[in-house]
Amino acid sequence: MKTSRIAIFHSKDQPLTCETVPVPALREGEILVRNEYTTLCRSDLTTFTGKRVEKTPTILGHEIVGRIEALGLAAPAADCRNAPLRVGDRVTWAIYASDPDCELSRMGIPQKGVGLFKYGHERLTPDNTLHGGLSEYCILRKHTPVIRIDQSIPLPVAALINCSVATVAGSLRLSGCVRDKTVVVAGAGMLGVIACAMCRNESAKNVLAVDIDEVRLATARKFGANLTVKIEPQGQSLKEQVSGLVHGQPVLVALDFSGVPETMEALMALLGIGGIAVWIGAAFPQRPLQISAESLIRNVHTMKGLHNYNQADLIAAVEFMEQHHGAFPFETLVHDRFELDEVNEAFDYAVKSGAHRVGVRPARRNAG
Ligand SMILES: [Zn+2]
Repeated sequence: MKTSRIAIFHSKDQPLTCETVPVPALREGEILVRNEYTTLCRSDLTTFTGKRVEKTPTILGHEIVGRIEALGLAAPAADCRNAPLRVGDRVTWAIYASDPDCELSRMGIPQKGVGLFKYGHERLTPDNTLHGGLSEYCILRKHTPVIRIDQSIPLPVAALINCSVATVAGSLRLSGCVRDKTVVVAGAGMLGVIACAMCRNESAKNVLAVDIDEVRLATARKFGANLTVKIEPQGQSLKEQVSGLVHGQPVLVALDFSGVPETMEALMALLGIGGIAVWIGAAFPQRPLQISAESLIRNVHTMKGLHNYNQADLIAAVEFMEQHHGAFPFETLVHDRFELDEVNEAFDYAVKSGAHRVGVRPARRNAG
């Protein structure tokens, strides 16, 4: 019988434990994937450190890339781009599976749809295993959007596609076209620097990155930010610093990946007439924002929120990385050192180092 190594997360005060479990028979519509690479996403770290409480025990990890090992009965014959799916193909897949015919899916929000299943977030039970990235194998459930990807993308970079890159693609779908516009990107972590790269690629006039950390701002410059502002709690306001740099150009798009209330409030204050703010970073409990309704009305502002992404965003993310992964130094953002049995060291390193991403190779030991 085929078996899989899995790393189990129990609670914030316990080390993850590695076990070997049977690979169950595939049910109708399922695909068995061998996980080639998993990057620890910020939300994995918030679970690991106890800032967010998940159903446990669980298999963390949802930024994953892998190879198809087996196709179950009535598994999809083609991917989201209509390319045939075969054993051996390298694929990425959406973080969610849900009913594609439910109302939310039809509204373009399948990540909140009926019957939602989320990779890297499900409770581990004897009859529900292999649903995360920190595992040798993953079973793709029915109704999971799957995409075959170009094998020339390095594994640590390809792993970023199905959370970080797809979420940024979703934020740019919500912001509308950024061509010739001045865009402010708040938070120069993984999502922020990807947003800089995507805005640069879409010919934004200015890509202005904002962060509290000079090193992260230097990284943003390597990913297409032509202007940067370091937030100083006691210094000039963000609006004053930004207006000193953009020479009268209105800021028409603000993307917040920081999740910091003061920063989100400051972004609303610097947005020009007709500007759009998209909130992505604040996916954890925090104080309510203080926003002037009068300013929102008189400046005809729009605020939008985004959690995860939909299938169109995943496709956009794959296409962006297939075409442009070589144009930006993505590989420098992933600390590539750990195997599955070193998962505790990987989490400790990720928390202590503040690296953009720490990678784990779940299947390397047995890959031959
Ligand atoms: Zn994630």
